[in-house]
Amino acid sequence: MLKNTSPWLRQLPERPRNRLSEDLETQVVIVGGGIAGVATAYHLLQGTQKNVVLLERHRLAHGATGHNAGQVVAHFERGLKNLAEKFGSELTIAGQKAIESAWDTLDAMYYDAKLDIPYYKCEGFSGFTSEAQTLLRLEHNHMRLEGGLEIESIYVSEDAPFVRKIPRHYVGLFSLVPAAKIQELLETDRTDFVSVHQYPKGVINSALFCERIISFLLERYPDRFTLFEHAPVHKIILSETRAMLDVETHTVRAEHVVLCTNGFEDLHIIDKNGLAIDARYHYLVSGVTGYMSGYLEKLGKSPVAISYHTDPGTDPKNAYYYLTRRPYEFEKGVHHNLISIGGPEFFLEDTTSYDREALYPEEHMRDIDTFVKRTYDTDPNKTIEYKFTWHGLMGYTRNGVRLVGPEPQNPILLYNLGCNGIGILPSIYGATKITRHVRGEHVERSLFDVPETLSRPRGLLPALQRIFRL
Ligand SMILES: Cc1cc2nc3c(=O)[nH]c(=O)nc-3n(C[C@H](O)[C@H](O)[C@H](O)COP(=O)(O)OP(=O)(O)OC[C@H]3O[C@@H](n4cnc5c(N)ncnc54)[C@H](O)[C@@H]3O)c2cc1C
Repeated sequence: MLKNTSPWLRQLPERPRNRLSEDLETQVVIVGGGIAGVATAYHLLQGTQKNVVLLERHRLAHGATGHNAGQVVAHFERGLKNLAEKFGSELTIAGQKAIESAWDTLDAMYYDAKLDIPYYKCEGFSGFTSEAQTLLRLEHNHMRLEGGLEIESIYVSEDAPFVRKIPRHYVGLFSLVPAAKIQELLETDRTDFVSVHQYPKGVINSALFCERIISFLLERYPDRFTLFEHAPVHKIILSETRAMLDVETHTVRAEHVVLCTNGFEDLHIIDKNGLAIDARYHYLVSGVTGYMSGYLEKLGKSPVAISYHTDPGTDPKNAYYYLTRRPYEFEKGVHHNLISIGGPEFFLEDTTSYDREALYPEEHMRDIDTFVKRTYDTDPNKTIEYKFTWHGLMGYTRNGVRLVGPEPQNPILLYNLGCNGIGILPSIYGATKITRHVRGEHVERSLFDVPETLSRPRGLLPALQRIFRL
């Protein structure tokens, strides 16, 4: 078994941790110090005059934000067609535009805080091995065109057996290219990829981004902002006008609580109506552990982000391999390229069962290594060197979309949570939307809204078990 060693956490500076040592009263309390909590703090401080307290159970940015692939991407894992079947085209396209707007929001945060951490904008490529996957991407492009979004580049191999069967209404939404071009874009000599989708991506250490934004906020808003680490919230008690949080031996009272907890870790919510929100909240998110490996390569090739959809099916739940390459300072002053690759995933019925200290099973490292050697590092002299293995918790919402907005049963409580595989830009977008809610603005209906009703859990036993653990 291997250790959970994230290359992103290795780059974080050491600094003193502020602990909660007395009862507090504030206007907004944010629970969870990952990118969602940090971005929410930033936008609340910038867009309102409220006092804000951020409570993090462990250390800042040590959750999914410190254990991801660091690809900045404006897509939903679930895909536009699948979302439109549930929400309709109009809400889906509006949701896509919302996520894309987060590119500018991220840039604005970066420049406002005068950050100098590496943040590379690069090309992103997704490779597909089947007709069904290719047609699905063409349909997404068609939806983008119809919805007034810029179309993205799709390349189909001239040798693909289905070329003549591509429906006429997709003409103009793709280019036919020699098979060698597909291999070149995906940086592989594998011959089973038949199409490539190209779109903008970025690469960033999202944990380092959070650290720097927090330092900036502490300096800019010394009277209105406080961060407490090692401050686990166990219970939230909601009345009609206020919330009280039980944080170990102290309490924090606030007018609003924003949950940015990714999933839920031993947190219970008691509302004036009892435990209805609690049961619902726990039912909203289930978990997946994502496993990644990191390799060092000689510096030279430019940053890139590539996804390899080796499974020919179109189910959004199918796992795929995702690779990023970016310069990385492994030892002080020594620069390499870091290749980070994820793929293997493990479903958790309950996110409380995720253990961040758990060892990393060697079989996942071997799985990724086999993929890397077959697909990316095919040079017989082996040019890349294995260095890291890490895992992280992804909270998946029932509908595959981040939950952003007030709890319908008590709007004092708001959510910006649900990692859903791709979460950097959605968290940042979520932060701007939460700020509008807290300002009391009318916020248009969207696919990120917390559903009014939920279908009944698959069994009452899990909910009852959680309630009795309270
Ligand atoms: C392996 C992996 C690869 C990924 N790759 C990408 C990618 O390439 N691109 C992308 O966009 N997204 C990716 N993601 C998803 C992305 O990392 C997340 O969506 C994003 O970091 C979520 O941020 P968050 O703040 O919501 O959650 P987290 O970063 O998990 O933060 C939640 C925080 O809440 C704290 N918390 C929980 N409960 C409590 C409590 N009761 N009291 C106090 N604090 C609490 C936790 O300790 C944690 O620090 C990946 C995720 C994983 C795991």
